[in-house]
Amino acid sequence: MSTLPDVRGRLTPDKPLSELTWLRVGGPADWVFQPADVADLQGFLRDLPSDVTVFPMGVGSNLIVRDGGLRAVVIRLGRGFNGISVEGSRVTAGAAALDAHVARKAADAGVDLTFLRTIPGAVGGAVTMNAGCYGSYVADHLIEVRVVLRSGALVTLPASELELSYRSSSLPAEAVVIEAVFDGHNGDPATLHARMEDQLAKRDATQPTKDRTAGSTFRNPAGFSSTGEADDVHDLKAWKVIDDAGMRGATRGGAQMSPKHSNFLVNTGTATAADLEGLGEEVRKRVFEHSGIELQWEIKRVGEPLAETTQPDVG
Ligand SMILES: Cc1cc2nc3c(=O)[nH]c(=O)nc-3n(C[C@H](O)[C@H](O)[C@H](O)COP(=O)(O)OP(=O)(O)OC[C@H]3O[C@@H](n4cnc5c(N)ncnc54)[C@H](O)[C@@H]3O)c2cc1C
Repeated sequence: MSTLPDVRGRLTPDKPLSELTWLRVGGPADWVFQPADVADLQGFLRDLPSDVTVFPMGVGSNLIVRDGGLRAVVIRLGRGFNGISVEGSRVTAGAAALDAHVARKAADAGVDLTFLRTIPGAVGGAVTMNAGCYGSYVADHLIEVRVVLRSGALVTLPASELELSYRSSSLPAEAVVIEAVFDGHNGDPATLHARMEDQLAKRDATQPTKDRTAGSTFRNPAGFSSTGEADDVHDLKAWKVIDDAGMRGATRGGAQMSPKHSNFLVNTGTATAADLEGLGEEVRKRVFEHSGIELQWEIKRVGEPLAETTQPDVG
């Protein structure tokens, strides 16, 4: 294995990623690096041998890491990258700031980023995934992001260069988002907080928010997320086509398609990444057979499966 550069932050070898993902599955990363600050991250990436892969990770709420783990250095931003400040209608947030904290702090200052309140990720993941719900997306509010490129260079990219679309973006490969600037409409703080309480209650009523999941498993074939409004049409919702194919509640090992919301994959306690991914693939197959629709994964699946164990030849 290559020698890694000296750092001021924390470098941990063979870190089990099951400890860092919402689904609580995933084998070890070769290394996890938590930089002390931006200069530490820049120096590390500049001096890291070019054959070492870098994988930036948020809080793992949209990830299945396979059971064999990741042959990479996982970059996990923490303290030093989670500041939030508000100036007028502009909100600047570090990539490690939780979406919910950003929404609350913005609302305190009378800025409407309420759509972020019920999304469990952090800002770097929200930008990468163009996270959204209830009819609003990051793309509607993002002004620019600061990223550290794989070369170690620190650059600012305007939102217009990120090709933000339904659950996707086009950040440079292996670039680490360190900060994002959003713009929100002004609103009355009490009204904004009340709206967020409503949205939380709506989520708890319809989604398995207390279970180990990674949110929606597949993109809606319609090409957009639910608005939560009364006139929302369900024909091309992933949950509807999964229901129609009879897969609500289906299981494999410790994995289950949630009985509460059929587009949520749940680790009921003993699931491996292979159980979860295998069940997801089974759902895709059944939906295709039933309706001809090819569901696309929304959850990112990364890493390698566990190597097959072979019996050594004896005698
Ligand atoms: C209960 C539940 C409900 C959810 N509801 C929604 C919803 O309504 N709407 C929605 O959009 N999503 C939803 N999600 C999915 C998830 O929360 C979002 O996709 C979120 O934005 C992911 O952020 P994260 O920090 O967890 O990223 P991770 O899961 O850690 O990573 C996701 C991707 O972002 C990349 N990434 C993360 N941080 C950085 C960074 N700093 N720099 C560069 N790349 C980075 C990773 O490489 C990976 O490709 C839900 C998830 C759960 C568990």
